[in-house]
Amino acid sequence: MPTSKSSPSILILGAGCFGLATAHHLASRGYSNITVLDKDSEVPSRFSAANDLNKVIRAEYADPFYTDLALEAIHKWRTDPLYTPHYHQTGFLNVTSNAASRVTRDVVEKYYSSIQNHPGFSDQVRRVNGDAEIKDLVPGFTGPVEGWSGYYNKLAGYAHSANTLEAVYKACLALGVKFHLGESVGEVESLLYASSLRSGTTCIGARTRGGNVHLADKTILALGASAPTLLPSVGKQMTGRCWGVAHIQLTPEEARSLRGIPVTNVRDLAFFFEPDHETNKLKFCHMGGAFTNFAGSKQGDRSLSLPFPTISESAFIPADDERYIRQLLREVLPDLADRPLIDAHLCWIADTDDSDYIVDFVPGMGESLVVLSGDSGHGFKMIPIFGGFVETLLTEGRQIQKKWQWKRSKPSAGAAWRSGESQELASVVRAKL
Ligand SMILES: Cc1cc2nc3c(=O)[nH]c(=O)nc-3n(C[C@H](O)[C@H](O)[C@H](O)COP(=O)(O)OP(=O)(O)OC[C@H]3O[C@@H](n4cnc5c(N)ncnc54)[C@H](O)[C@@H]3O)c2cc1C
Repeated sequence: MPTSKSSPSILILGAGCFGLATAHHLASRGYSNITVLDKDSEVPSRFSAANDLNKVIRAEYADPFYTDLALEAIHKWRTDPLYTPHYHQTGFLNVTSNAASRVTRDVVEKYYSSIQNHPGFSDQVRRVNGDAEIKDLVPGFTGPVEGWSGYYNKLAGYAHSANTLEAVYKACLALGVKFHLGESVGEVESLLYASSLRSGTTCIGARTRGGNVHLADKTILALGASAPTLLPSVGKQMTGRCWGVAHIQLTPEEARSLRGIPVTNVRDLAFFFEPDHETNKLKFCHMGGAFTNFAGSKQGDRSLSLPFPTISESAFIPADDERYIRQLLREVLPDLADRPLIDAHLCWIADTDDSDYIVDFVPGMGESLVVLSGDSGHGFKMIPIFGGFVETLLTEGRQIQKKWQWKRSKPSAGAAWRSGESQELASVVRAKL
């Protein structure tokens, strides 16, 4: 832990999930000179994948390494006063519908096997098969739910992710972390480098769009799917991909009837959560193979898939996503099947081919530039412990966890646990909502 005199200056680019988690952890561990920049004028940033009503908190993974980490994170969600107000342990119902393919059923089965005999889940998991068992578990489901089968995990639920980001932001402010937000003073246009015979090339900070220069001993790039805009070399190991998200507005009475339902993932259709406590909105997402935007790459060779630069360009969902959501509604809550879908938007992640994060120094820059990326759609649940990963990196001076090292591989078509292949957005028909 550094003393206030020895504390290096830390510049964090991006106040999303990984950036805030890092700022908060380092500040609480005695790092006293931390500055965070973000392109949005407020936190939570509208560009952050985690600025959302809710995210699933669950620990079943094909890779036991992440199961153990997620259990550690869940312990914090359940006990740390910073996180407990935002965590709802409603359980996780992970099933397939009658129409699901063998491959999709097998994915759910693999998740079940990964926790069935894990000591961390004793008495927490059980199989749920067929409409009678599903309705017994969730009486609020009024549709046929015919042939739904899978399992129910009690040691899981969701967190209000936007409220969590806000709470971590406020905790950072209380610890003296400095923030510069908005297009002119917070949006980073370029990294700054210096060269010397003794140290070679190092990163010495960043310049914002408005021309402000921030110098730092260590620069930490935490831009999620936008990381390659400042560091194109990271784009060789991750791909910006997105999923469509939409809401349905419920009346207070309708919301009451669904209060406390488990996060329900019908793997071949879509997943949804209990209605949001503040807005009574139900959130839906069809998690297929996700969508790319190579056409948006500023590199002439279209080698990078990047998020759209503005919020309005991401304000839609593909027509197929709507079709899956409405099919799900017909099966589970038919009264809502024709209700308008609102707040439609694309949510962007940084996808690696093995779904492992990237938490490492950028090669060739000494210990001056760190990249935090490759969340692969499962980073939010780690927010209570993610900053610890970065502290270990800074203390060790190298990434000792092989999985999180700077990767040499090229991204493939997408992770095996996704249902379906990635599709380029330019060829997608948009839902008319
Ligand atoms: C539909 C969907 C569902 C998901 N569900 C889950 C789930 O159930 N459970 C789970 O654990 N995770 C989930 N995730 C993943 C989770 O949201 C991400 O893992 C997490 O947000 C990644 O954090 P990040 O900091 O890398 O990126 P982000 O949170 O996206 O933050 C990036 C930040 O960089 C800022 N930025 C970008 N460019 C610049 C620039 N030039 N200058 C300054 N700032 C900039 C942005 O404003 C933003 O604040 C989901 C993601 C999606 C899309």
